[in-house]
Amino acid sequence: MRIDVLTIFPGWFEGPLTTSLLGKAAADGTLDVRVHDLRDWTTDRHRTVDDAPYGGGAGMVMRADVWINAAEAVWNDLPPEATAGRTGPPEGLAHVAGGPRPRTVLLTPRGRPLTQALARELAAEDRLVLCCGRYEGIDERAHELVATDEVSVGDYVVFGGEVAAAVVIEAVTRHVPGVMGNAASPVDESFSERLDTGEQLLEHPQYTRPSQVRGHGVPEVLTSGDHGAVGRWRHDQARELTERRRPDLR
Ligand code: SAM
Repeated sequence: MRIDVLTIFPGWFEGPLTTSLLGKAAADGTLDVRVHDLRDWTTDRHRTVDDAPYGGGAGMVMRADVWINAAEAVWNDLPPEATAGRTGPPEGLAHVAGGPRPRTVLLTPRGRPLTQALARELAAEDRLVLCCGRYEGIDERAHELVATDEVSVGDYVVFGGEVAAAVVIEAVTRHVPGVMGNAASPVDESFSERLDTGEQLLEHPQYTRPSQVRGHGVPEVLTSGDHGAVGRWRHDQARELTERRRPDLR
């Protein structure tokens, strides 16, 4: 799978993309993640990507023209200089030569909430483009001309779309074959439908050695060697936890 990220802070992604399973998947070619500096599509000396909001008010808004030109280049695998500074129709209209634009996700608090189901849906794509906003957000015309999807990582506001894009990358790529060592893992965890009952549950509690921690032991069934009993216990625990904490999932 190929993922392109558009951001004004490309350095932000160095850690997340080179660490652990994502780093391994990038190194072995399972994932091809390309981070682009949005400022490469600016044309002024100060590499400006924002301006004051029409209608007044606090903060700055990211410019639609910079976003549209950047997306057009990334979609078409063109260098920044091919589209930077483009204005006016038809060149000003974002398009992809020879086909539909790849799924282009604009991270925004007003977007569709990210769920395991959406992560699985996005994982089925060959390509994703992730757009990270900053300041007060992005000019509405870029929402219209660039985004195929608007996605939120929760009902709260963070400083920028980078952390949200990293969440999307992790949630999505867990479902890409070859990214996780153990192929069964993404189907056997919280929010995934159980293969046997189809229920969507939180995961059961987990334990490992040592068997005693400051007077706290391990449920006996887990050391019984009875795999059937362990499976039933885990299912019961998952149901009980889900009922208590997230009844909306049942
Ligand atoms: N003024 C915006 C609002 O009230 O909805 C918030 C802008 S926020 C400070 C700057 C950027 O962070 C957004 O453009 C978006 O890319 C990102 N962001 C903030 N919260 C987010 C969330 N819950 N989900 C996805 N992206 C978010």
